[in-house]
Amino acid sequence: MQANVVAGIDLGGTKILTAVADRQGRVLAEVRLATEAAKGTRVILQNVRRSVEQAMSKAELAGLPGAIGIGVPGAVQAGLVHLAPNLGWQDYHLTEDLGQLFGCPIAVANDANLAALGEYCFGAGQGSDNMVYITVSTGVGGGIIYQGEIMAGVSGTAGEIGHITIDPQGPRCNCGGKGCLEAIASGTAIARQARELAAQGRGQGILSHVDADGVITATAVGRAAAAADPEAREILHRAAGALGIGLAAVANILNPSLIVIGGGVMAMREIIWPVMEAEFNARTHRGARRAVTLVNAALGGRAGVLGALALALKEVGGVTGTTHPPV
Ligand SMILES: [Zn+2]
Repeated sequence: MQANVVAGIDLGGTKILTAVADRQGRVLAEVRLATEAAKGTRVILQNVRRSVEQAMSKAELAGLPGAIGIGVPGAVQAGLVHLAPNLGWQDYHLTEDLGQLFGCPIAVANDANLAALGEYCFGAGQGSDNMVYITVSTGVGGGIIYQGEIMAGVSGTAGEIGHITIDPQGPRCNCGGKGCLEAIASGTAIARQARELAAQGRGQGILSHVDADGVITATAVGRAAAAADPEAREILHRAAGALGIGLAAVANILNPSLIVIGGGVMAMREIIWPVMEAEFNARTHRGARRAVTLVNAALGGRAGVLGALALALKEVGGVTGTTHPPV
């Protein structure tokens, strides 16, 4: 075992991102592997193990790391994964199985919470001990850093910003609710609204920006909006307004110093940000508004794996502070 090396794993429904780092938080190697979630837990764990072995050998290190941090797409409490539908897990003792597989300390957390930790330790959140992270992509996820630690809540579901109700009469959400932020502002929701327009014989401007495969995506809506298509802009402005309302609720409750906003949908920042910010400012308590800054996330798709590294570094008492940006 390499006691001076830790591994961070971002275990997603389709891919596994794994990084190894030294105790100073310097990233030595990163690898990406398919999860093959449909093949079941045994194969998922084999692939996790393989990703760690590959990262170690890529870093020219023998053996296994001294500690592992891992993020999973689901609610986690004390090492138990309550529910991770993308991996087919329910009340699964991941910590136990990984402990046997690797023979080292294992720390498990929710993936969005770890992305928040990643931005806090290595990205846009450095130095902000009370920050909120939100990612707007296929879904809308989030994480809260309170006094330098992940605030997970009593059953591991804190930071589910995507399921704040924005419109009680709004569209159905994956969670079973109605009018959640995710059902209005996620990439999936943006594409759905464009498809609904097309089904009514409208949205010609959006359709002219669709790829050759004919699939209406959020990216196509973004391209149409950038070309000043009014229907595309309306969809994105609705998403942006919903984000502003949701973030105002978060700021009013938590009074953070920083809100870090990431995810693929924010590639349409120029259209989304001004509307989001105006809505946020209009709805946030003055005292909270004065204290908070809204910024872009810095780590992109690496936030989760770097957060997992930070979690592993905490296990071994390594440096998780703000002085060692990743390579
Ligand atoms: Zn929901």
